[in-house]
Amino acid sequence: MSPVQLIIVTKGGDADIITFTQGEDKLQVAKGYGDMEHLFCSECGCGICQGLHAFSSYFRAVFPSTFQIEDGASCLVPEIYRPRCHVHYENRLFDWNDDLPKWKGGPPGDGMPGEKKSKSATAVQ
Ligand SMILES: [Zn+2]
Repeated sequence: MSPVQLIIVTKGGDADIITFTQGEDKLQVAKGYGDMEHLFCSECGCGICQGLHAFSSYFRAVFPSTFQIEDGASCLVPEIYRPRCHVHYENRLFDWNDDLPKWKGGPPGDGMPGEKKSKSATAVQ
């Protein structure tokens, strides 16, 4: 389904990519297309994160709605979590009219292991 907003979380230092402070025992993994896996809460069905299993120690994509980001006055996503670009834009269901960079695949320099950056980092007009 597209568009969807995801926040890419990468590994920094020796810390785990994602640290669960509670409810880790409720995580359920659902196999997706190919190597994709989706982690859900088995209690409420909320999507937690997703990603390619082969890269699970490198990055995870989390849903902004997973976080409790409301401040009591606004439900707007805070600036730090707002989208910065469109990725895999070649697979969009409709054009998106904003000024964010749109990449055919991943953004340049995404550092994905084994990815061919020349194909991935192609801007779409
Ligand atoms: Zn839940």
